[in-house]
Amino acid sequence: MGTASRRWHVEVTGHVQGVGFRPFAKRLANQWQLAGWARNAGGFVELEVQGDLQACNGFVKELVVSLPRPAQIRCLDVKEIKIVLKDSAFSVLASRVDGDLQRFVPKDIGICEDCRQELLDITDRRFGYPFINCCHCGPRYTIINKLPYDRERTSMRKFPLCLDCSFEYATELDRRFHAEPNACAECGPQYIFNDNNSVVSGRSAVDSAILTLAEGKILAIKGIGGFHLAALANCSEAIARIRQIKSRPDKPLAVMVSDMSDALKLGKIDTGEAELLDGPDCPIVLLDKASFDLAPNIAPGLTNIGVMKAYAPIHFLLLKEFDVPLVMTSANKGGSPIIINNNDALVKLKNEVDAFFSHNRSISNGCDDSVVRKVAGRTMALRLGRGRAPHALELKGEYSPILACGADLKNTFALAANGWAHISQHLGDLSDLDCFDRYQQTIKTLCGLLDIEPQKVACDLHPDYVSVSYAESLGVPVERVQHHHAHIASSLAEKGIHEPVIGVAFDGSGWGYDDRIWGGEWLICDLQHMERVAHLKEVSMPGSEAAIRFPWRMALSYLVDLQLEHDAIVELLGFISEDEINAVRKQISSGINMPLTSSCGRLFEAVSSLVLGCRSQSFEGQAASYLESAVSSEEEGLYQFALAGRKGMIEVDYTQALTALIADKQVGTPPAVIAARFHNGLADVLATVSERLRAERGINKVVLGGGVFANAFLYTKAIDLLEGRGFQVVTAEEVPINDGGISFGQAAVVAAGGGAGANQI
Ligand code: ZN
Ligand code: ZN
Ligand code: FE
Repeated sequence: MGTASRRWHVEVTGHVQGVGFRPFAKRLANQWQLAGWARNAGGFVELEVQGDLQACNGFVKELVVSLPRPAQIRCLDVKEIKIVLKDSAFSVLASRVDGDLQRFVPKDIGICEDCRQELLDITDRRFGYPFINCCHCGPRYTIINKLPYDRERTSMRKFPLCLDCSFEYATELDRRFHAEPNACAECGPQYIFNDNNSVVSGRSAVDSAILTLAEGKILAIKGIGGFHLAALANCSEAIARIRQIKSRPDKPLAVMVSDMSDALKLGKIDTGEAELLDGPDCPIVLLDKASFDLAPNIAPGLTNIGVMKAYAPIHFLLLKEFDVPLVMTSANKGGSPIIINNNDALVKLKNEVDAFFSHNRSISNGCDDSVVRKVAGRTMALRLGRGRAPHALELKGEYSPILACGADLKNTFALAANGWAHISQHLGDLSDLDCFDRYQQTIKTLCGLLDIEPQKVACDLHPDYVSVSYAESLGVPVERVQHHHAHIASSLAEKGIHEPVIGVAFDGSGWGYDDRIWGGEWLICDLQHMERVAHLKEVSMPGSEAAIRFPWRMALSYLVDLQLEHDAIVELLGFISEDEINAVRKQISSGINMPLTSSCGRLFEAVSSLVLGCRSQSFEGQAASYLESAVSSEEEGLYQFALAGRKGMIEVDYTQALTALIADKQVGTPPAVIAARFHNGLADVLATVSERLRAERGINKVVLGGGVFANAFLYTKAIDLLEGRGFQVVTAEEVPINDGGISFGQAAVVAAGGGAGANQI
């Protein structure tokens, strides 16, 4: 040790627990000949280093630049403290367990390269062991019951370490030093295969699972965050059955590949996409389907497909036996939460799957796979799940602890306290009772894990939202946040923007201040305030929810609004019987159950229905995604939207655009061209209205938010046009652009002192 002239206390926050951070710090401290210690505290790592100034500096610098693979530093706080005499070595201390520490929940990490090699190495003691993991990989959040993250507070608690494993666990320089889920075939969890004829475990279970898949059958596999249904991706029959089991006739299914080289065999993947696909969180990445040679019923009618890399060791063991990917989709029925426990799986899937392949380690926190996409060079988060949740983001300011309840569809909730917000995993549609149960449980669990007791509850304005009545039932002061304000606020808070921006929220639906359904909105807003300054012209939704399920009803509503002759309407909706049309027309003239909406999502659905004959949709956004898939990107023409309205409120009128669209359809213009002209027109009016607002308000920053922007063509076009006209365009990249981001937006608004009571100008 050199002469100790300095002692520093270093607090490192971010993704630093369960990633081998402390052994890494120890190696580094040894290199720099520093004394001191490192330990986990709450969800961060605390260090003290002692040595000369140059060594202390060098240590901190290298700590940041040569961080181990899955670790991520969000914040590094260095304080000079008093020198400790006679301190001459660096040690790793037991975790600090006490009350008011800032906590972070470690996230699950896909298997690392070292573990993968051991898994396939016949001479290794973990050869073929499906629960292999180390400090740099393995389950985290999905097995945690309490923080700090130590084995006895996870579902590994019931597996006492064998001698070999406990030696690794206790050896500071071992890759498995304090790897909490450390295990081997002798002491750890085991797979169990059950196909009604036989029950086998361990190695034979894996062999039986492989055989089942090879026969073109369907396997229910328990993985990291829950049960999946798996089948070979070239086996259309099995895939058709999976669709039946899930009651999902059309929704795209994800496929899993063994590694990056297999992913590349499937088609063209650009650098940004490869980075996402190969990340330690192993999300589902939406890729261009054109070049993929898989069963056509994996993602019918769409030009993209979800692909993920094997993340659990068991996925490798299965995939290495086949030269096709596996279809891997959560085993629950559409709309229900992911199945996490063995009995539930048995009860719910008994007569549906060919075999169960489960294991005896319990899943503490169920997580769906995360979904992301790379569009226009930006990351677009579509679902927060395993590997990405709970997602912590800085949320500075003075506020008491907040629970933000989120939206009812694609729900997540968020907890904010002490300068940080934590966004939960995707919890689905709260109108499903089981989802609502899981939602309440998860709120309880995360409050416990993070030691947050909410003093304020943030929720939507919608009078019928389940999450709103839940918020009201908690006996804590409730603050309401308008849905589209929350969409824009989530981007503002993620990117740390405090000044007012032009917020464009193109969305399915969200309750407005005028008790109408909004969804095609231009706002001037910051975190505290929002002003609605422009919106799409309203139209009625015949039958309310029914108009969402059956997009042709929306199409009819627009056609009636355009005052088209009855015969022309019947011809345009040739795929619907005249009786049905008459029945809905009757409803339209009665005005009963006909809420007005300015929703951009509904406009998309109506156009999809008109152009592609889309009659009904079985999942949210289906009609719009078919329309996107139909676009011919060569077509540069556009349908003009007119701007009308009174002072201070621009109304974007679709009449001219739809009239041109109908004329195109009547002369037999190809759907690909019509779809492109519609997208182009919408992007153009988005930019034109923004320009007008810039001229009036002097604001040059545009934020895009809302589920409609999951449409990559519109998103790219809008960004291109806006940037071309000199705007700075901001979009959330870590927080979902759809309703999955609402909770974080609500938290950000309430933390900043906004909320519906205070913020409407
Ligand atoms: Zn590993
Ligand atoms: Zn062992
Ligand atoms: Fe929304």
